[in-house]
Amino acid sequence: DLVPVRRALLSVSDKTGLIEFAQALAARGVELLSTGGTAAALRGAGLTVTDVSEITAFPEMMDGRVKTLHPMVHGGLLALRDNPDHQQAMKAHGIDAIDLLVVNLYPFEATVAAGADYATCIENIDIGGPAMIRAAAKNHGFVNVVVDVEDYAGLLAELEVNEGTTSLLYRKQLALTAYARTAAYDAAVSGWMADALGEAEPRRRAISGTLAQTLRYGENPHQSAAFYSDGSTRPGVATAEQFQGKALSYNNINDTDAAFELVAEFDPAAGPAVAIIKHANPCGVARGESLTDAYQRAFNCDQTSAFGGIVALNDTLDADTAREITKIFTEVVIAPDVTDEAREIFAAKKNLRLLTTGGLPDVTAPGRVWRQVAGGYLVQDKDNGHIDIGDLKVVTERAPSESELADLLFAWKVAKHVKSNAIVYARDGATVGVGAGQMSRVDSTRIAARKAQDMAETLGLATSPAEGAVVASDAFFPFPDGLLTAAGAGATAVIQPGGSMRDADVIAAANEAGLAMVFTGMRHFRH
Ligand code: 5GP
Repeated sequence: DLVPVRRALLSVSDKTGLIEFAQALAARGVELLSTGGTAAALRGAGLTVTDVSEITAFPEMMDGRVKTLHPMVHGGLLALRDNPDHQQAMKAHGIDAIDLLVVNLYPFEATVAAGADYATCIENIDIGGPAMIRAAAKNHGFVNVVVDVEDYAGLLAELEVNEGTTSLLYRKQLALTAYARTAAYDAAVSGWMADALGEAEPRRRAISGTLAQTLRYGENPHQSAAFYSDGSTRPGVATAEQFQGKALSYNNINDTDAAFELVAEFDPAAGPAVAIIKHANPCGVARGESLTDAYQRAFNCDQTSAFGGIVALNDTLDADTAREITKIFTEVVIAPDVTDEAREIFAAKKNLRLLTTGGLPDVTAPGRVWRQVAGGYLVQDKDNGHIDIGDLKVVTERAPSESELADLLFAWKVAKHVKSNAIVYARDGATVGVGAGQMSRVDSTRIAARKAQDMAETLGLATSPAEGAVVASDAFFPFPDGLLTAAGAGATAVIQPGGSMRDADVIAAANEAGLAMVFTGMRHFRH
């Protein structure tokens, strides 16, 4: 899959590093083609260049709007080198192959940022550049495309290592960068047009993806909002089918996503599970003998908060469970599937939104997560980390019992989906207290214990269900205090990543309190 680079087309607005780069290519015997300004710069440095206008037999025209938009150029970029028909067409029309395209686009973003007038911004929308970039990137089987000055050195290094050729993997990496660039470029153009039109921003601004739904408003009524699909076919809130109820709101979508991703942690082959979500945090998660049982146990964790919540099931919604769910007001129910009978029961509740997905997402699959900050985006891998029993390290004198171990793993899966600082008490495969989103881990531990006490009061239990429960912490306990609070509430076993400077103190405190503790070696912050 090594392809030699013999002929290059250079057409760049930003001429930084151009001369040195072109000289290095020329030194390798690469023939250089170029457009007006770029060709002039290269000639100025004494390089031999062929003008694109000579190849197309057309002058650059209309203020440069039409320079490279020609079959002599696009044929050279797009022709498959191993396809006899394509080769025949090249021969018939005198088209020569272009093996390397070096383009950086008209500085549209910089022109807008400089506050240029409308007509100037329009003139700075590059047309031929993106067309060539997309053509070369499509034909990465044979063609190299460089869209960033930063990549000049890398290409020269690749040519050096491979003696004047490039590898397929390298060309694929270039193509990926190229499409990311044209996508960002068009997003900048449409974003600018949205601003120019004074449109409510997120509704019309094309971000990467297709508009799935214009939302009535965002997190609050004064914020406009929209829902975009990224084209994924993965089971989830974006691909779900809605059977009834009003359109989903911004908050519904966010919370439904949180609910379904959480419940997907529990393989239905290992039994039914239910998660109830409020404000993207679980107020109850449980496994059960049946789906109905799981729902009741999840509901019991925090009956007050569950009102108006989002319910996610890891298995087909059946009639019994549907009946149970309709006893209180619920915003959304999402499940892989629904029985006809359950649908009929729900039909009486006009406002209840019912979504089915056809399956559960694979929570271990890789993915990306974006977050906007002022002036940019943070991108990270999705938290698809998971641990098995074999990954756990017992660090206390007492090892957890078998039932404690099962609950520890259960609580850990839930904690991954709770906003940090996250503390989860669990017992017999059900949460009994969740402390979410606090600035101090001790506070989360206290809140979770308080919730367990509330649960005892609501259900008329003689003791707090935290007594004899296990506790999961999404990150290490930096001091023994949080752990001691959990022990004071009655927890008997602890799961946490470990890795604190004071692990020894925390372990000593656990031993003294008779706790069993395991380290996961993996943290699940979620902010
Ligand atoms: P030069 O400075 O070489 O005259 O122009 C280089 C710029 O022209 C590059 O940014 C390139 O993307 C752009 N370009 C190349 N071909 C075309 C075309 O056919 N139409 C337009 N609008 N821009 C082009």
